[in-house]
Amino acid sequence: MIPCFNEQEVIEETLARVRAMCATQPETAFEIICVDDGSRDATLELLRAEQAVDERLRVLSFARNFGHQIAVTAGIDAASGDAVVLIDADLQDPPEAILAMIAKWREGYDVVYGVRGRREGESRFKLTTARAFYRLLNRLSEVPIPLDTGDFRLMSRPVVDALKAMPERHRFVRGMVAWVGFRQYALTYDRAERFAGVSKYPLRKMLRFATDGILSFSARPLQVATGLGLIAAGLSLLGIVYALAMRIFTSSWVEGWTALMIAVLFMGGVQLLSLGVIGEYIARIYDEAKGRPLYLVRERLGFSEGESKTATAPARSTAVTERRAAPAAAGALRG
Ligand code: UDP
Ligand code: MG
Repeated sequence: MIPCFNEQEVIEETLARVRAMCATQPETAFEIICVDDGSRDATLELLRAEQAVDERLRVLSFARNFGHQIAVTAGIDAASGDAVVLIDADLQDPPEAILAMIAKWREGYDVVYGVRGRREGESRFKLTTARAFYRLLNRLSEVPIPLDTGDFRLMSRPVVDALKAMPERHRFVRGMVAWVGFRQYALTYDRAERFAGVSKYPLRKMLRFATDGILSFSARPLQVATGLGLIAAGLSLLGIVYALAMRIFTSSWVEGWTALMIAVLFMGGVQLLSLGVIGEYIARIYDEAKGRPLYLVRERLGFSEGESKTATAPARSTAVTERRAAPAAAGALRG
């Protein structure tokens, strides 16, 4: 399953490499699912042309750009195999490593995730921020999320079905797969340089992705707000005791505008920060409450009729309606 966003420079080469990998496993049936995440270049035309000559290729095209994690989700929803492999379009993850993943899956593992050994052609900034992010995430999250992994991974059908039943909107797929459990195997591989084109993850998207990762897997930021409040309250209590003592027991007392300003600004800062953190969580609750579909598909190629039905109606939406129906029914009983 390959998410593609403006990948016209690489997509043909990627498909060629993936096909070559498939060809070494003649006894295994493959389907290749490309999700076009609202590309504005020739990616979709190239995919259409490829699909016309390869009936194993299935193409889903989004109505607009929904983002990498949603594209991956759509691919998982559309896949029909006993195992699903996620791989980036830019050939940073070598398709040949899929063979090793399949071998591990045949040994009985449900998830085989790629751990990045060497990483070629990444900026120092990206490497250090990624390292720091995964370590921070692990301290905050209740689920251990493997360090230095991406979405390059194989998942068995039970894991895929579990993911399909997870309705959340702000998706951090690698964390969700860690949460699922089952038998997981870490496969180390060397990450290559992007084959061509530029990264489709500018800093803004990267930050949103990191925020999603932390906020969907941890309530710790809310506790940090409580902690900051406690510290501020404790400090001001000390200040009050000090000011009172000076006033009662000595002839000089605390005066000054500076101390006042500092205290006010400090408290104001802590309060706004905490409000912001709470606001982030509330915004996510609001997004979930709207219950919009995760993505909209504009075009679908290569899916047979029966399959495409299951692809458009993932278990997720039924799970959501069921959950909605339950409280209403309970209310009726109580009434
Ligand atoms: N991608 C996507 N939608 C987006 C951004 C990226 O489907 O909005 C895809 C992209 O085509 C690629 C994968 O996600 O297959 C990873 O993106 P990229 O290689 O640009 O990220 P980087 O490796 O630089 O973090
Ligand atoms: Mg990349």
